[in-house]
Amino acid sequence: MREQVVELAREFAREKIEPYAAEWDRTHHFARDVIAELGKLGFMGMCTPEEYDGMGLDTVTYLMALEEISAADAAIAVSIGIHNAIPTTMLVKHGTPEQRERWLKPMARGELLAGFALSEAEAGSDAASLHAQAVRDGKDWVLNGAKAWATNAGTADLMMIMVRTDTPDARRGAKGISTFIVPTDTKGYTPAKPEDKMGLRASNTAGIELSDLRLPAAHMLGDEGMGFVYAMEGLDAGRLGIGAQGVGIARKALELSLEYCAERKQFETPLHDFQAVQFKLADMATRIEAARALAHRAAARKDAGEDISLYASMTKLFASETAMWVTTQAIQLFGGYGYMRDFPVEKLFRDAKVTEIYEGTSEIQRVVIARHLTR
Ligand SMILES: Cc1cc2nc3c(=O)[nH]c(=O)nc-3n(C[C@H](O)[C@H](O)[C@H](O)COP(=O)(O)OP(=O)(O)OC[C@H]3O[C@@H](n4cnc5c(N)ncnc54)[C@H](O)[C@@H]3O)c2cc1C
Repeated sequence: MREQVVELAREFAREKIEPYAAEWDRTHHFARDVIAELGKLGFMGMCTPEEYDGMGLDTVTYLMALEEISAADAAIAVSIGIHNAIPTTMLVKHGTPEQRERWLKPMARGELLAGFALSEAEAGSDAASLHAQAVRDGKDWVLNGAKAWATNAGTADLMMIMVRTDTPDARRGAKGISTFIVPTDTKGYTPAKPEDKMGLRASNTAGIELSDLRLPAAHMLGDEGMGFVYAMEGLDAGRLGIGAQGVGIARKALELSLEYCAERKQFETPLHDFQAVQFKLADMATRIEAARALAHRAAARKDAGEDISLYASMTKLFASETAMWVTTQAIQLFGGYGYMRDFPVEKLFRDAKVTEIYEGTSEIQRVVIARHLTR
C-alpha cells in the first residue's frame, strides 16, 4: 500500500504539478482544481480513518507522499498539509459524531478544504496571548476579532478558529481559548486580500476579519477552554508535515544540482569533478537523509501512540534548516544562473525560508526542545 500511494503521489506531482509550479508562483495562482483532483485520489484524508472516508494511512506513508508533492511545489503541499494535519487531527480527536459526519468526511473526500487560524497580528510566537473573542448569546456564540496569515483563509470552505471564550476581566491565557468550526460562507467572516509573499506564492495566506459572526453552540470543537491544547496537538502533526515539506524542497534542490553539475563545465571540467563541489553535494545528501530519518522516526512514534511534541519540534527545526541550507548551496552551485528567475532553484530557496518561520519559528522549536530536556 505504501509503495502504491507514494508512487501515485510522485506521478501526479511530476505530471500535474511540477510543470506548472513556476507559472503559478509568478501569477499567484491558487490551483484549486489540482487540489480537487488530489482530493478525488484520497490525498485530502491521508491519515483520516477509513470509517470517516479517509485512506487511513500510517504517518510515515503520509510524510513520504507529502515529500513528493513538496518536491514539485511546496505551495500545493502547504495547502493540503495544513488541511490533512491540523483541522483533520482536531476533528478526528475531538469532533462529535455529528461534526465528523458533517465536516470530517467531506474533508477526507476532498469536497471541503480546511485551514486553521491561531495567529494574530500581535500574537505569533506567543499565540496564547490572542485577542479574538467569542461571547455567548443564548444558544449561539458571537465571534469578533482579527486573525493574521492563515493558510487557505481565502480559499477554504471551513476554518478552525481559536478565540477567547473567557471574559476580558478573567483572562486565563491558554486556558481561556476555545476552537470553533467556522464555515467560510458564514456572515461576518471576511478574508483579507491575499498576502504578497516571498515564497509559496501559489498558496493562499490571508488575515480574517471576524465581525459579529454568529454560530450555533454545536460549532464549538470539544470542550470550552481547551482550544489551545487542541491547537498544539494539531501543530505536532503539522510540524511533521513541515518536516516532509523541508525534505521535499531540499531533495529537489539536490536533484537539480546533481544534473547541473554533471552538465556545466568550467576549466574544461564538469563541475561535479571538482572535489569542493563533490563535498558540497555529499553534505547536501547527508543532511537530507538525516532530516528524513528524523521525520520518519517521529512519525513511527506518533503511530505507536507516543507523545511526539519533542520529536515534532526536532523534526521541524532540523528539516527546515536543512531546506534553507541545501537550497543556499544549490544556488551557489548554479552560480549566476542560480540567481535568475529562469532557473528553478531560486524558487526552492524562497519556498524554503518560510519553513523556518510558520508553525513555530526555529527559535520556538528550540524553546520547546530545551523545555523537554530541562523539565
Ligand atoms: C506563509 C505563512 C503561512 C502561515 N500560516 C498560518 C496558519 O495557517 N495559521 C496560523 O495560525 N498562522 C499561520 N502563520 C503565522 C505563523 O505561524 C507565525 O508567523 C509564526 O508563528 C511567527 O509569529 P510572528 O510572525 O508573529 O513572529 P514573532 O512571534 O513576532 O517573532 C519574531 C522573531 O522573534 C523570535 N522570538 C519570539 N519569541 C521568542 C522567544 N521566546 N525566544 C526566542 N525568540 C523568540 C521569533 O523566533 C522570530 O525570530 C503563517 C505565516 C506565514 C508566513
